Amino acid sequence: MSVFASDWLDALFAKFSVPKKDSAEFLEVRQAYGGLPLAAIACHGLSDLDRTVESADNAQGRWSSLTAAERCQVLHDWATLVLQQQETLARLIALEQGKILAEARAEVQSTVRYINWFAEEAKRPKGEVVPPKRLNQHLMTIRRPIGVVGAITPWNFPLQLLARKVAPALAAGCAVVSKPAPETPLSALALQDLAFQAGLDRRLWAVLLGDARRLGKALCQHAAVRMLSFTGSSRVGKELLGLCAPTVKKTVMELGGNAPFVACEDADLDKVAEQLVASRFRNSGQTCVATNRALVQRAVLPELIKRLKPLIAALRCGDPLDPAVDQGPLIHAGALARVEGLISRAVMDGAEVLQGGAVDPVHFNVYQPTLLCLPDHGDVTRREIFQEEIFGPVLTLTAFGNDDEAIHLANATRQGLAAYVFSRDTSRLLRIMEGLEFGMVGLNNAVLSSEAVPFGGMKESGLGREGGHEGLESYCEIQYVNLSYA
Ligand code: ADP
Repeated sequence: MSVFASDWLDALFAKFSVPKKDSAEFLEVRQAYGGLPLAAIACHGLSDLDRTVESADNAQGRWSSLTAAERCQVLHDWATLVLQQQETLARLIALEQGKILAEARAEVQSTVRYINWFAEEAKRPKGEVVPPKRLNQHLMTIRRPIGVVGAITPWNFPLQLLARKVAPALAAGCAVVSKPAPETPLSALALQDLAFQAGLDRRLWAVLLGDARRLGKALCQHAAVRMLSFTGSSRVGKELLGLCAPTVKKTVMELGGNAPFVACEDADLDKVAEQLVASRFRNSGQTCVATNRALVQRAVLPELIKRLKPLIAALRCGDPLDPAVDQGPLIHAGALARVEGLISRAVMDGAEVLQGGAVDPVHFNVYQPTLLCLPDHGDVTRREIFQEEIFGPVLTLTAFGNDDEAIHLANATRQGLAAYVFSRDTSRLLRIMEGLEFGMVGLNNAVLSSEAVPFGGMKESGLGREGGHEGLESYCEIQYVNLSYA
């Protein structure tokens, strides 16, 4: 048996390694840790995209005319199959993406929860009856599925972020044409296959692989694609927003974060240290809601550093398949070089390395878990390391004096995804929270994500929300109906 340890996956990926008619190109998928080849998957061309959109468009009407309960059942059956394959999928994610097995398992479980959540939400698209101005009139609003949805997803949560788009789209009665990241196409193909095993019409969900720029552009420009749901960098998101304008597509954009973590002097410092490490180092720091900037009240900074250092030193790096390992590699050599460049420029700019601060000399594509203290003088908000989303295992510390300064520092970014505040004083927590320009705020808690709540950002972190009842709304249009009767 192959490295996937699964006959199902071996047979599935073999099917996708056959070249497409109009494209002789292949996507070489490699293990994130070690770089060995995993599979060569045939790429799609633009004619595949056109064909796929057309057949999704044809199939969508029938799907949306099923009862919500019927769509709900297909989604529940899909979730059940995903859960049954938990170990296989977790291993696949660990191989392809490089997160440790425990985190990969958690991703599979969260994927299952999202699918089940939207299976139930399928039954609850809300409408309204509005009081009319005249007698003998009924004014109503109803929710209609938006049609064919384009979904472009990144590699950092290859299963969950895809399910978070496909499940609500299908629940609402839409069809999906998706394009996963080239680093992690196998997780997408596996997830799709399980949906088909659950009885989903194959025309309702396509996974396109190949040139991201070409396929992405064509998806955005296609008139029959009525919506684009994108998760990825702010840079690409802005480009795609422009491409969606000529066809006036609805968009959901989940873009970059630059999360501040405000630690007040009256906070429980043991908890602060533990949550900072969990939030920053999960998935080797490659999480959009990860703490990117710890803002620590000056009086407790030395004490917090004392608590952080042993926790960070204890993180074991290496093969994500090894259950003893806490931190795996970065996604590829380019990501490693980017983090290395950011940190060396921060150090030249006066940052002090308290722990780590270099590429791991032993393990493949691993950056050492790193603690950096930014200089306590000058305008810290102008520093590159303060403004960039690090996307690596590097925690930066910045001192602040009072709450107003903490709010100013926290908001001094064009992103507004997640923010965290820790204090034992509830009034203080709420005052600071009210000053924060972020779509999600964790008070004494840095683990926010749940299928039951709206995930999304303010400012340049995006548009729209995923999860919660808002997550289904995103895939619906509102239709207003005015009925006059005799
Ligand atoms: P990340 O930094 O997480 O890789 P990206 O925004 O580069 O974020 O990638 C997110 C998704 O967008 C991936 O599926 C990627 O293939 C796709 N993508 C990247 N560049 C483009 C582009 N120019 N046009 C369309 N899609 C793109």
